[in-house]
Amino acid sequence: MSSISASSLAAALLRQEVLDLHAYHVPESSGYIKLDAMENPYLVPTALRGEIAEAVAAAAINRYPDPGAVSLKEKIRGVTGLPQGMEVLLGNGSDELIQMLAMALNKPGAVLLSVEPSFVMYKMIAAFTGMRYVGVPLATDFSLDLAATLAAIKRERPALTFLAYPNNPTGNLFSADAMAQIIQSSPGLVVVDEAYYAFASDSFIPHLARYPNLLVMRTFSKLGMAGLRLGFLAGSAAWLGQLEKLRLPYNVGVLPQLVAEKLLSHHDVLLQQAEQIKRDRAKLYRQLSEIAGVKVYASEANFLLFRVADATEIFNGLKQRGVLIKNLNGGHPMLKDCLRVTVGKPDENMRFIAALQETIIQSA
Ligand SMILES: *Cc1c(COP(=O)(O)O)cnc(C)c1O
Repeated sequence: MSSISASSLAAALLRQEVLDLHAYHVPESSGYIKLDAMENPYLVPTALRGEIAEAVAAAAINRYPDPGAVSLKEKIRGVTGLPQGMEVLLGNGSDELIQMLAMALNKPGAVLLSVEPSFVMYKMIAAFTGMRYVGVPLATDFSLDLAATLAAIKRERPALTFLAYPNNPTGNLFSADAMAQIIQSSPGLVVVDEAYYAFASDSFIPHLARYPNLLVMRTFSKLGMAGLRLGFLAGSAAWLGQLEKLRLPYNVGVLPQLVAEKLLSHHDVLLQQAEQIKRDRAKLYRQLSEIAGVKVYASEANFLLFRVADATEIFNGLKQRGVLIKNLNGGHPMLKDCLRVTVGKPDENMRFIAALQETIIQSA
């Protein structure tokens, strides 16, 4: 055994799906105006941070967390306005919930279906868990291609379907009517991923009781808690009670539980920040649409997708000027020369626009 190198041993022992994966790359961002990851740019007010600090100082971090997270779940039910009879399942970010769902529904040959381009973790987690992944292309305007999606559902009979509402990285909210048709036509479970609910005009939470195959997934990451890692699934106990068996008992730590509960007690403060971001999104949209050579897409999230002549050149020019956004070029054919910018603080947005104008002028 000792004559074999670790790398050849790893290559021999690891599952092929794992060897074939590319690690999710998070770029170095220190020193940049960071508009690449859909984070809320605002901290909460100082007084509230002081209150959180006191609670953290008193927290029993020597003990395992409350595995049922009873009081945090109660808070979530309240701020979400969950319909009667619906339950909550907590995840270490919604990424963990996607993984739990895939593990739970991955019978031999089971299909995980989503649309493309959409959130890349659906496809990645299908690969992690060995599910067969089917991606149905969106229409060229990034709306749902309903006929193609319904045909794929009929053909593939997916066990698990993810629809991001609004969608990432395109930012648009799909037609609620088309969504409903997909849910109704699906023999499997459909998960509506509402990561951007705070910035959007619609939700499927009120419709949970209408469809026996629907769950809604949310995260607090985009609402100012990306560092805490907290997401949840909402739906009937029939589903969540089963999924609960797969949840590692202490997946949400003492500190995230405690801090999230404090923050959600001031949900209004977070929603005011979201309102500010929505106003700034409208302004940024106008400014982008006025720049020649930029095509910007409508968004109900806290970011904007836009297309330029040469995305990599613009991305690099922005980076040289200290602004980090996301280059989507090469990720999916429909995202050719597309960039995604997170809505930041007003002065960050201004510096982004100025850097973009300079870069475009220089590259012309
Ligand atoms: C950011 C994002 C998530 C992941 O959120 P975490 O809770 O931080 O893991 C899930 N879905 C979509 C569509 C996202 O954009």
